[in-house]
Amino acid sequence: MLHIGCHLSFSKGFLHMGKEAVSIGADTFQFFTRNPRGGNAKTWNSDDALALRELMRNENFAPVLAHAPYTLNPCSQTPETVDFAKRAFSEDLRNLELIPEAMYNFHPGSHTGAGTERGIAMIADLLNEFVTTGTKTTVLLETMAGKGSEVGKSFEELASILSLAQAKEKIGICLDTCHVYDGGYDLRDNLEMVLEQFDRIIGLSKLRAVHLNDSKNPIGSRKDRHEKIGEGSIGIEAFAKIINHPALRNLPFFLETPNELPGYQKEIETLRALYRE
Ligand code: FE
Ligand code: FE
Ligand code: ZN
Repeated sequence: MLHIGCHLSFSKGFLHMGKEAVSIGADTFQFFTRNPRGGNAKTWNSDDALALRELMRNENFAPVLAHAPYTLNPCSQTPETVDFAKRAFSEDLRNLELIPEAMYNFHPGSHTGAGTERGIAMIADLLNEFVTTGTKTTVLLETMAGKGSEVGKSFEELASILSLAQAKEKIGICLDTCHVYDGGYDLRDNLEMVLEQFDRIIGLSKLRAVHLNDSKNPIGSRKDRHEKIGEGSIGIEAFAKIINHPALRNLPFFLETPNELPGYQKEIETLRALYRE
């Protein structure tokens, strides 16, 4: 069974997202914990969260993915930005206790000039301050394209963050196909080698989710511009291999392609048809 969903808007609440997912043939979804460009979280409604959990059980959902805001940057050189990162991260984790079936994904951060090594240390500090063995939610570091001063653009950088983290069993990786391709990994023509590298440097057991996006740009471009599945430089044949690969096929896949609901529905249909049961 292919576990697949897409990014949905949280504006009408949890149960609404669950129903929307079901209506487009998805069995999971992703949502922003708060406005992606910053700001405060709205209060999470615990009855609404319970209703979603019931729907997830009835519809055999895979784990859902809560995405931190893009403005969450634990390795900024601006102290106020780091303060916001800590506040948002800890608040989000507290709120997520309402939905134990959710994982929490965040962009490791941009070092804004201090250098990758310092960035890695600051990201690990955030994890070690708020993710302990008692933390309920699994936290995922997303693979990044490497635009600007982004940290997490190589498997080595992600492995360094993980190696400094204390509650290792609570921390995993979300692989974004567009980001990894833009970062220079040839998922299109050499998937096997990319996954071997991932396994050697990070360990495939750390991989917990996949963001499924085509890319508007060529390999190594470090641009991070998502394209619809099959309409970008990665291409549909590569996606057929990705969703069926033994190391990936049981993970939850999340579309973050430039689509409204009908477009997502079509992509989910296309990918389900390509999945070998
Ligand atoms: Fe992301
Ligand atoms: Fe992503
Ligand atoms: Zn992206």
